[in-house]
Amino acid sequence: MTTRVMIVIIAFIISLLFIRSCSTGYAGRPTPDYEETGAIEGVECISNGKFYRNPEFKDGVRDCAKYYWCPRGKVLEFRCSAGLWFDVDRQICDFKAKVRNCEKSHDASTPRPLFSTESPICPEGKLACADRTCLDRGQFCDGQTDCNDGSDESYCDPDSDPNAPGRCDLTNCTLPDCFCSVDSTRIPGDLRVEDTPQMVILTFDDAVNNENAEIYAKVFAPNRTNANGCPIQATFFLSHEYTNYRDVQKLWNDGHEIAVHSITHRQPELWWTYNATIEDWFDEFAGMANIINRFAGIPLDELRGVRVPFLRVGWNTEFIMMKEFGFLYDSSMVAPKSDPPLWPYTLDYRIPHKCAGSRQKCPSRSFPGMWEMIMNPMDIEGHTCAMVDSCPTHLSDDEVFDMFMTNFDRHYKTNRAPFGIYFHTIWFKEKQNFRVFLRFLDELIKKPDVYFVTNYQAIEWMRTPTPISQLSNFEPWKCKREIDPNLIACNHPKLCKLASRNLRGERYLQTCFECPEVYPWVKNEFGLEFNKK
Ligand SMILES: [Zn+2]
Repeated sequence: MTTRVMIVIIAFIISLLFIRSCSTGYAGRPTPDYEETGAIEGVECISNGKFYRNPEFKDGVRDCAKYYWCPRGKVLEFRCSAGLWFDVDRQICDFKAKVRNCEKSHDASTPRPLFSTESPICPEGKLACADRTCLDRGQFCDGQTDCNDGSDESYCDPDSDPNAPGRCDLTNCTLPDCFCSVDSTRIPGDLRVEDTPQMVILTFDDAVNNENAEIYAKVFAPNRTNANGCPIQATFFLSHEYTNYRDVQKLWNDGHEIAVHSITHRQPELWWTYNATIEDWFDEFAGMANIINRFAGIPLDELRGVRVPFLRVGWNTEFIMMKEFGFLYDSSMVAPKSDPPLWPYTLDYRIPHKCAGSRQKCPSRSFPGMWEMIMNPMDIEGHTCAMVDSCPTHLSDDEVFDMFMTNFDRHYKTNRAPFGIYFHTIWFKEKQNFRVFLRFLDELIKKPDVYFVTNYQAIEWMRTPTPISQLSNFEPWKCKREIDPNLIACNHPKLCKLASRNLRGERYLQTCFECPEVYPWVKNEFGLEFNKK
């Protein structure tokens, strides 16, 4: 897979360069060259969901490279790369000569493309921009502005994208590679509730290191096993900085799933939604997979899952990257509150729920065979929270316990959709939380129909729905795993002290493999010395 992936990436980057240098001067979406300075004094908040220019001129001059965005009343400032200006109509940075709207502060409304007119404007296979220009259907919502008025890229949610797939078609969607149901509440294989195991999916995000090793050792104590006698398992969505790759290797040796959560985990949160280019998505996620492979020894084809930092879904761009790299599932989308809860589904058809959350951009295209491990939020007296650490605090022991149990029952007593509990380990720093969670865990483990599985094990079950009575022989959930003796975590890892230009300092990296020369980062995931690269 390595070679294939590298070829794909290289081909892709070449094609990007080609498009940029040969097209009509399109210089890309706003680039990462921005600075977030928080609320800006003297700049009005224009909250139309778009980037805008400061309506006030400063000393009679307008800086056309600066632009702003105002989510939830907070003005954020951005700046185009040197030599570029911001185009308010097209919402991108472009060469100065191409930007003809420097006098305009904000886009009052991008016009809608003309899809449903009484008589068709364009010949078959083409669709009309708002100004009646006809373009190929495929040029609408492909991430690149083609209409002069920008109308082809302005209405691209799953309901407006003219290339969006239809709703779940049960006759054409069959297991193991396609799974959907109209509202996503159906049990795979139409198993009866009493035959369906209640899968519990624990996930832990961010760095794995000495700060949280003790927590994991306690949660995954050897006496905690599923009904088939195998240890309970979880999924770790890993970001790079401060991660100890020897500990990661050990978790993987113990049967847990390691998945990818980007290299930088950069801020601001909305960069992931609005600024990250396809190249950025490759750098962050394919790059992180390469880092894990190199320093924790985990084979690339076992790194199957993706979770975007801050759960910022990356529209179609994220999923194009996933498809090209060979990832199997995303777990960044949070479902609207739902009773019964939702089962995961493949993205062959339109997503079967609202794109929930603030300013999220869910994929609008079809990605056959790609699984969405949808996150059902916890519900605590009407307040919903995706990650446990964003749930209300200052609860008593019993209230925390009830929160888990009530939400568990909403799954267990209805359609047995996998029950996800999503953590940052910071939540366990509160001793009470840890104590109550372990109590809850031990309560669930007593139930013979409850299994703690990884995301991938859950997908394997959905691909081959197997009734509880036959689970003791269900291969993907067995504990016997053959690990290449060369890939067993060492007891005495190397402690590499490494310089990092990007982080302007030094970082430690622990690994059972060779130390790199500098601290690995985007575009240098193997940590090669700067002048040798
Ligand atoms: Zn995170």
